[in-house]
Amino acid sequence: MNARINPGPKRTEQLKEYQIAKYLYYILIRGYYIVLLILPYSVISFIARYILHPFIFKKETRFNKYLRSALLWLGGGLNRAVDYRAHLPIMRILLEYLKHNIEPIKRRSKPLVYLGWCVSPEFLRAFDVHYIIPEAYSVTGSWMGQDVSIHLLETVEAEGGSIESCSASKFGGGAYFTGQMPDPDIIVTSSHPCDSGVSFYPTVENLTGAPMFVLDTPYDTTEGAYRYFEKNLRSMIKFIEKNTGQKMDWNKLKASCEELNRTNFYLQELTAMTRAIPSPVSSQLLTVAWAMKLMGSGSPHLTEMARRMYEASKKRLERGEGWVKDEKIRVIWWDVPIAYISLYPWLEKEFGAMVVGGDLMGRCNTPYVDTSTEESMMLSLAKVHLHASMVRNVRGTYELFMDEFEQIISEYSGDCFIFVGHNGCKHGWGYGRIKKDVCKRMGMPALHMSSDYSDCRNTSEESLKKQITDFFVGNGLA
Ligand code: SF4
Repeated sequence: MNARINPGPKRTEQLKEYQIAKYLYYILIRGYYIVLLILPYSVISFIARYILHPFIFKKETRFNKYLRSALLWLGGGLNRAVDYRAHLPIMRILLEYLKHNIEPIKRRSKPLVYLGWCVSPEFLRAFDVHYIIPEAYSVTGSWMGQDVSIHLLETVEAEGGSIESCSASKFGGGAYFTGQMPDPDIIVTSSHPCDSGVSFYPTVENLTGAPMFVLDTPYDTTEGAYRYFEKNLRSMIKFIEKNTGQKMDWNKLKASCEELNRTNFYLQELTAMTRAIPSPVSSQLLTVAWAMKLMGSGSPHLTEMARRMYEASKKRLERGEGWVKDEKIRVIWWDVPIAYISLYPWLEKEFGAMVVGGDLMGRCNTPYVDTSTEESMMLSLAKVHLHASMVRNVRGTYELFMDEFEQIISEYSGDCFIFVGHNGCKHGWGYGRIKKDVCKRMGMPALHMSSDYSDCRNTSEESLKKQITDFFVGNGLA
């Protein structure tokens, strides 16, 4: 695993040092946050729907590239006034997370941890540290437009990064090589969700020389597997304590877990609400919630975001109203979403097509954390980690992947399947034949594409949209 690559010159000219975090923190997020504070939600909804729609929907241009992807991530202006209430806590989560990036740049007063995206940040909330999630650049880097995304990916490939790896990790690598992240004091990551992501961290360990801890993920879901992982989590705590010179605050960990339980209640309800016909929830909300959980799990702002999303959706459910006025197609999207450009708002606007049951990231079915004793809390946290997005499906036997797929089919009344075929998800390609057999048995139309979660060079936005359009039209769905 300790394959050392020649890092070459670490800094490149095209992106200034820390440019992404600074741009997002000082301009994009703060600007939007101010808009949310000073304008009524009905005005924001009007502007988004009637002024921004034509500006952002069609394609990326030099006029919209610094706004488009972020605005599509936030729902593409399809939200009603009441749904914008959730955007205020979303901005607070983003600003809090970006402070972990900005403060160590200005003044290094606390240890800085690089945290693998499948390790939940509750533990780090119980220490006095900053944390940066390198893979989060696959979302925030994409928000700066395709030129920046391509630059990050090409930089890491020029340094020897594998073309076949998960592009989320490659964004992390690109962010490192272009100087977007200060060097870490320690690295904490995991051997899940899949092999593709795993190869990234030993490279960062070699380049930075920072001590690294890797959680060792068991293959199955037996009680023994959970106990094994719990021991791993305890070793991780000892590692962080030893390398930061701090003691973990168990009361803070407990408070974060209780907050997480409150958040998950709302997110699970939102996932379940997409069973209704018409669905009152956009799966884009679930994808946004997943990204916010990645950056701010255990934060009260996260609970507030989820509560506001839940309340607006529940009212629609009670009135029998859908997210779109006229729901025409229900899509089972059994894959990760496309992150470089959010396709769900386009599906909703163009076809009245709703993704139901979320996707491999947005669907929330996280176990409850029993905080009654230290033992129960640690065992629950082991289960939480092993049920996290992607992790619960791709770290072991095919049953982990397919049983949930069959459950979604039986519970969410889909009309068709879409598989995006993410380049890095080799397990997904490995299950290809089994998935096709299930689709055939169900007798529902299925679209199998080849694309990439956050690499726009793999399959362009135009091509993805054309394939989906042809699929809907060819199968009489649109
Ligand atoms: S499961 Fe897919 S998206 Fe997730 S880390 Fe692995 S390759 Fe990347």
